[in-house]
Amino acid sequence: MLQQVNGQETSPLSCGNDPLSEDLQVFLGSDFQLAELDDLTKVNPVTPATVLRCLQERYQVDVFYTTAGCTLVALNPFKPVPHLYCPELMRDYHIAPQLQKLKPHIFTVGEQSYRNVKSLLEPVDQSIIVSGESGAGKTWTSRCLMKFYATVANSSASQETHETVERIEKRVLDSNPVMEAFGNACTLRNSNSSRFGKYIQLQLNRAQQMTGASVQTYLLEKTRVAYQAPLERNFHIFYQITKGASSSERLEWHLPEGAAFHWLPNSDRTLEEDCFEVTKDAMLHLGIDHSTQNNIFKILSGLLHLGNIHFDDSEDESQVCQPQEDAKCFVMTTASLLWIPKEELMETLRVRTITAGKQQQVFRKPCSRAECETRRDCLAKVTYARLFDWLVSVINGSICAEPSTWTTFIGLLDVYGFECFPNNNLEQLCINYANEKLQQHFVAHYLRAQQEEYAAEGLEWSFISYQDNQSCLDLIEGSPVSICSLINEECRLNRPSNATQLQTRIESTLSSNASLNRNKFSKDPNFIIAHYAGPVQYQIEGMVEKNKDPVPPELTRLLQHSQDSLLQKLFPSQEKEPNDLLGQSRAPVVTVVSRFKSSLEQLMQVLHSTTPHYIRCIKPNSHGHAQRFRAKEVLSQLEACGIVETVHISAAGFPIRVSFQSFLERYDLLRKSYPSQPRPSSRLPSSSPTKEHSASPFANLSPKRRWC
Ligand code: ATP
Ligand code: MG
Repeated sequence: MLQQVNGQETSPLSCGNDPLSEDLQVFLGSDFQLAELDDLTKVNPVTPATVLRCLQERYQVDVFYTTAGCTLVALNPFKPVPHLYCPELMRDYHIAPQLQKLKPHIFTVGEQSYRNVKSLLEPVDQSIIVSGESGAGKTWTSRCLMKFYATVANSSASQETHETVERIEKRVLDSNPVMEAFGNACTLRNSNSSRFGKYIQLQLNRAQQMTGASVQTYLLEKTRVAYQAPLERNFHIFYQITKGASSSERLEWHLPEGAAFHWLPNSDRTLEEDCFEVTKDAMLHLGIDHSTQNNIFKILSGLLHLGNIHFDDSEDESQVCQPQEDAKCFVMTTASLLWIPKEELMETLRVRTITAGKQQQVFRKPCSRAECETRRDCLAKVTYARLFDWLVSVINGSICAEPSTWTTFIGLLDVYGFECFPNNNLEQLCINYANEKLQQHFVAHYLRAQQEEYAAEGLEWSFISYQDNQSCLDLIEGSPVSICSLINEECRLNRPSNATQLQTRIESTLSSNASLNRNKFSKDPNFIIAHYAGPVQYQIEGMVEKNKDPVPPELTRLLQHSQDSLLQKLFPSQEKEPNDLLGQSRAPVVTVVSRFKSSLEQLMQVLHSTTPHYIRCIKPNSHGHAQRFRAKEVLSQLEACGIVETVHISAAGFPIRVSFQSFLERYDLLRKSYPSQPRPSSRLPSSSPTKEHSASPFANLSPKRRWC
């Protein structure tokens, strides 16, 4: 979309040589007050420039939400706008007789989902899919929607149930600060970036009161525990304990004021999220008592001390590496905080055991300095990841309602947006794979389904093309061969991973797929996938190892020997050895990709069984500044989620879709003057037109009028 004019980039909004300026002039010549256009389908003509300009005009007068057909575009205000999220406004949306007459808002989407549940004879679960890039406002939006449901769902509660409902809602809302403390971190793009994906289902009973909720999480970025990119930070909880601990806690957790930890960079910056009291209170409400909290924070402190253990090179290969002089005290403290024997900790970090031969003899091999440090990091990652999963299961135990007490749910999906960095590896592949699946869901549910429905109904319609991402998904996950299957195959073969070899295999088997390419000028093995949101180059080096995510069995055994009651739960002693990556077992290897793929499949199944609603969060600028609308950045986000195609189809399509049942009920009077029609079945999809339309008394009307 960007043009090079005399060597300079120009934005689509600038006039002159810009190819989009013509569209803009046509648009500007119209009578519309741009900022008042609540729905992008009313923009005429619909082009990237006109859509962009409309959003910009609205943003400048503090209007952040705009409808785009079936989607709500949400611009991040990057400033407090409390009046937009106050309980009074929530109630206004809740009681509005005609929702569409109010300004577009996330509450419109929230309330519409709520009404859908109520209005159908058979309750149909709803999903709100919140997407957008990092910092665009997905988590903020999900949180506000949760508050919205807590407010409106309680307003229908009777005197007796009021307190119970309120207690449940408080717990559900309290899951947010806890999950954010453990799963969010300050990154270059967002000071409160979610480092995991989340799908929360709010469970409703027949009276539409919230009786509970359940959370499913995806792909926690556990490497952050032991590695933080320059200027980024570790998970918030580590800063909360080091800043917020009382003097007795400091003593118990070995966290003296001002102590320096290698895994705690940029701690001089204090963020709003550094509030320890809020997390502790929320944990308490969720049933995590003081003593368990104490265990958790002791373990976290143990991990911080573990990160300060550095090794010197050994003199020769037969010798173990020694911890650096100033690291010796950290060995003691780590062992005491994790309640594991100090000698066993040292042995595990520094010595690899190999079992071989018919007699299953055990050989000890001293690790190199780099290997010791990899094992140290691995110990921290596996402990943190299990702690996080355990917390999620405790939260679920505390907020999940008995199946008999709820009939339907509204799901809120808040997952990482599409990612494209200078270096992309397995993490980005998984995230972008998930985004492709969600895009396919959107395309199938809206862009394709709507047009196919028109065709099936014999309605006058000229097909609007849209980007179908099937070939990209075939490339990533298709059968019999795909990028995922090839990476998994490498793990199963368990040969020394060779990135060039994998690149050759990918090219030779998948070259017919148009979504695959390669940067031939790069000397590192790579492949490029043409995603719907743009091409991404992936580095192959390290991908296979990341996919194996190996945890040396000695590390698990070490933690199984802990006397700490929580670590004993996280690492039960009867647990089987993790992966048999040596290929001795016939069982399929459980890799990161295979686990992610199956959780994604489950998610898609759930989404397909619900009525979806879409909120696309947009970041007006990448610096988080209020009142700054960078057209170029917004345009690329609009393109990435296909907003313009959506608007096109919605604008050309039928704005109101009424089921035949409701239509008949409403216009029964008119029907009486015509020969009677067969009554349709009582259970009809909410927005699905039926064949009876063509035989209806309105058959002679133009398609649009026939549907309205
Ligand atoms: P990530 O993918 O990194 O988790 P995200 O899309 O979840 O990003 P949020 O954390 O929700 O992004 O939002 C980033 C920041 O933008 C928030 O911390 C908040 O400061 C601001 N913000 C987002 N939405 C709003 C809003 N509606 N009103 C005011 N500020 C907002
Ligand atoms: Mg987030």
